[in-house]
Amino acid sequence: MTSRVLNDKDFAGLLQRNQLKVTAPRLGVLKIMADRDSAISQPVLEKLMGAEVDRVTLYRVLKTFEEKGILHKVIDLNGTAHYAICSSNCSEHNHQDEHFHFNCTQCKQVYCLNDMHLPAIHLPEGFEAASVSLSITGVCNHCSKE
Ligand SMILES: [Zn+2]
Ligand SMILES: [Zn+2]
Ligand SMILES: [Zn+2]
Repeated sequence: MTSRVLNDKDFAGLLQRNQLKVTAPRLGVLKIMADRDSAISQPVLEKLMGAEVDRVTLYRVLKTFEEKGILHKVIDLNGTAHYAICSSNCSEHNHQDEHFHFNCTQCKQVYCLNDMHLPAIHLPEGFEAASVSLSITGVCNHCSKE
């Protein structure tokens, strides 16, 4: 469902391509994110990283990654921000994440549906879109099996 953009070897390379120093917290965040098929909120990420990183550092890592086009923010059903890995088309200050996001009402996870094609959007005359957010609410493939 989600196309994996990253593998282990790529983490350091990805940071370097974005003129970012390779640091343990940055690598840690990328590793955790690449292992999941859903987006992750900062508090959950903080728990997974444990003592490796403090809250301020983590906040800065996420902010930098968002600016660099490495991660994008997704808002879940409760209005909480989650982060997901960007498609390879994203670059600094230029996100191309106009894909559907799937909000599961049972596990509350948010998934990027990168491979779904978007419908053509025709706006009325005089309207100019700056960004598009597409979300689907329902039951994800993990929860529907139970
Ligand atoms: Zn992006
Ligand atoms: Zn679910
Ligand atoms: Zn997404």
